[in-house]
Amino acid sequence: MAEILNVPEIFGCDVFNEATMKERLPENIYAAWKHCVTTGTQLSLEVANEIAEAMKLWALEKGATHYTHWFQPMTGITAEKHDSFIAPTGDGRVMMEFTGKSLVRGESDGSSFPNGGLRATFEARGYTAWDPTSSAFVRDGSLYIPTCFFSYTGESLDKKTPLLRSMEEVSREALRILRLFGDKQTHRVVSSVGAEQEYFLLPKDLYAQRDDLRLTGRTLFGAQPPKGQELADHYYGTIRNRVSSFMRDLDEQLWRLGVLSKTKHNEGAPCQHEMAPIYTDANTACDDNQLIMAIMKKCAAKHNLVCLLHEKPFAGVAGSGKHNNWSLATDSGKNLFSPGKTPAQNAQFLVFLAAFIAGVDEYQDFLRCTVASAGNDHRLGANEAPPAIVSIFLGDELSAIIRSIIDNTNYQEPEKSMLRIGIDIMPAIPKDTTDRNRTSPLAFTGNKFELRMLGSSQSITEPNIALNTIMAEELSRFADILEAAPNFDDALHDLVRDTFVKHQRILFDGNGYSQEWKEEAVRRGLSNLSSTAMCLPAMIAQKNIDLVVRHGIYTEPEFRARYAIHLDAYNKVVKTEARTMVDMAVHQIIPAAIHYTRDLCDALNAKKSCGISSRTESILVKQLSTYTDALYDAVEMMRGALANIPQDKVEAANYNHDTIVPGMQAMRSAADMLESLTDKSYWPYPTYSDLLFY
Ligand code: ADP
Ligand code: MG
Repeated sequence: MAEILNVPEIFGCDVFNEATMKERLPENIYAAWKHCVTTGTQLSLEVANEIAEAMKLWALEKGATHYTHWFQPMTGITAEKHDSFIAPTGDGRVMMEFTGKSLVRGESDGSSFPNGGLRATFEARGYTAWDPTSSAFVRDGSLYIPTCFFSYTGESLDKKTPLLRSMEEVSREALRILRLFGDKQTHRVVSSVGAEQEYFLLPKDLYAQRDDLRLTGRTLFGAQPPKGQELADHYYGTIRNRVSSFMRDLDEQLWRLGVLSKTKHNEGAPCQHEMAPIYTDANTACDDNQLIMAIMKKCAAKHNLVCLLHEKPFAGVAGSGKHNNWSLATDSGKNLFSPGKTPAQNAQFLVFLAAFIAGVDEYQDFLRCTVASAGNDHRLGANEAPPAIVSIFLGDELSAIIRSIIDNTNYQEPEKSMLRIGIDIMPAIPKDTTDRNRTSPLAFTGNKFELRMLGSSQSITEPNIALNTIMAEELSRFADILEAAPNFDDALHDLVRDTFVKHQRILFDGNGYSQEWKEEAVRRGLSNLSSTAMCLPAMIAQKNIDLVVRHGIYTEPEFRARYAIHLDAYNKVVKTEARTMVDMAVHQIIPAAIHYTRDLCDALNAKKSCGISSRTESILVKQLSTYTDALYDAVEMMRGALANIPQDKVEAANYNHDTIVPGMQAMRSAADMLESLTDKSYWPYPTYSDLLFY
C-alpha cells in the first residue's frame, strides 16, 4: 500500500507564504509588507531586517544552510548562486546571519549571462532585487528568494521585470473600463495563468547511450518504428508503475513548494505525459512553471528516468507544447472573460472580448514571435499542431453573437429587431465550454483564452507579457474613446461593433491544419511566420517597439536585447545540432554500416566459394554502400556549410534555416535508411522502438 500523504498538511510547507508571514512576523511588520505589495512601494530597511530575520529562522528550521537570489535571466531558465548564512564570530566559530540588505538586494557578476548587448563587460555587474509579491521557499537546503535581475544602469536583464510591468499596465487600463461600467470596488485587475506542461520520460540508461539526446535534448536520427501513436493507445491510458511513482513524487515535491499541481495523464505520443496546475496570477504561474520544469528533471533522475522538455524529441510522433490558459480577473475574483448574467455584465464582457480580438489581430506577429524558437519550429508551421498562423477560435455560440452584431441582426430572434449593445439591452450569452477546436492556436474556452503555441521548454513569461500588453493597449484605446463619449451607450455600441467588423479576419473556427486555411489566411491578409528565422525580423518591427515602449514594458534597448538573444539562441541551437549529427555520423553511424557491410562481404565470399547463392548479401551490400556514400556526402556538405555560416547574425539565421536545416535532413534520411538495413547488434545507439516502447 502506498504511504498516506496528508496533502493539506504538506501543501506549501516549504514556502514562506502569507500565512507563515502573518504567523511569524510582528503585526506592524506584516502590515508594512502587505502595504508594500499591494501598493507597489519599497520596503524600509527596518522592515526588511525583521522579515529577513524571521525568514532565516524559518529556513533554518527547514534545514537550510544557504540562501540564494533566484532569478530568470533572458535565457529562459532560472539562475541561482548560493551563499551560506555563516558569519564568523571572531573566536573561530560562526553564527547564522541574514540581513534585510541581503534579502532585498544582491549583487552578482552577471557577465556570463547573455545580455543582448545591454552591458559592456567592464560594467558587467548585475543586481538582483527581491520581488516581495512572490514567495520565498526552501529547496535542497537553500532559501530561495525570487528576484528581479537588472544592470548597473537599471536596465532589466530578466524575464520577470517586464512581466510585472505588463501586469501593472493591463491592470491600470482594465480598471478604467471597469470604472466606466460603474465598478468602484475593484482596485486591481490580475492576469491569471494556468500552464499545462507536456513532457517525455525515458529510461536514463537508454538516454545516456544517445549523444543527440544528451547534447541537444532530442533525437537527430532514428528510423520510424513499426508502431507509433496511430493506435491512440497512450493518450489517457493507464500510467505505468515507474511513471506513476515519478508523478506521485513530483506532486509531493510541488505541493510542498505550494505549486497547485492538479492534473496528470498520459499524452498522445508513447512515453509522453502532461501535468497541469490550477491557475494563479501570472507572476506566480511563471515562477511555478520554472519550478515545475526544474523539479521534473530532478525527480526523473531519482526514478532512473530522464525528463525531456524539448518540443520535438522524436520525429513521427507528437511533439510537446505548453497550453497557456490566460484570463483577467478583479481582485475579488470576478473573471472579466466570463459572460455575465445581466445585460450590463454582458456588455462589459463584449468590451473585453473586443479588445482581445483587436489586440491579437493588430499584434499577431508580436504574439507569434514570443513562441519562436529552434525547437518550436518543428511544431509551428510544420505538419503538426498548432499552425503558425495566429487566429482565434470562439465556438459556435459566441461566433453567432458576433456575427449578429456585425450584421445588425438580432441573435435570438433574427427577423425581429436589430441587436443593440448597451448597458440595458443585451442578449444572454450562453456559457459554452464544450466546443473545443484542437487545431486552433488560440481558443476561447468559456471564460479564458488558451494559447497553444508555446513550446514545452520555453519560459511562459514572454507570451504572457504579450497578452497583457496588447490587452492594455486596446483597453487604453477603448477607454480613451468611451471616457470622452457624450453618450456612453451609443459609443459602446459603435466601438464594439466597429471592432468586430474591423478585426473579424482573425476569427476562425475551422480546421487550422488544413491547406485551405493556409490559403484563406493569405486572402485575409493574416501573416504566416512559419519559422524562427522569419519571426525574428518581424519581432523588432517599429510597431512592436512602439507598443512595448509606450507601455513601459521594455525600453527600446531592452527590447532589442531580447531580440538579439533570441537570434543568438536560434543560431547556436541549429549549429550544435548540425555538429552533433556530423559527429554521430562520422564516429558511430558510418563505422557501424561499414562493419556490417564488411561482415556481409565475408559471408558473401564464403558462400560464393561454396557455390551457394548470396543474392541477399549482395543486394544488402549494394544498398548499404549507396546509403553510406549518401551519408558521407551529406556529412561533407554539412562540414562545408558549417564553415560558411555568415558572421552577421541575421544572415546566419536565414542561412541556418535555408541551408543547415535541410542539410541535417539529408544526413538524417541517409542514416535512417542505414539503420533500417543494418543488423541491430551493430547499431551504435538505442532505436526509436527501444526508446518509445521501453
Ligand atoms: P484542458 O485544457 O486540459 O481541458 P482545463 O480547460 O480544465 O483543461 O484547464 C486547463 C488549465 O486552465 C488549468 O491549468 C486551469 O487551472 C486553467 N484555468 C482555468 N480557468 C482559468 C482562468 N480563468 N484563467 C486562467 N487559467 C484558467
Ligand atoms: Mg488545454
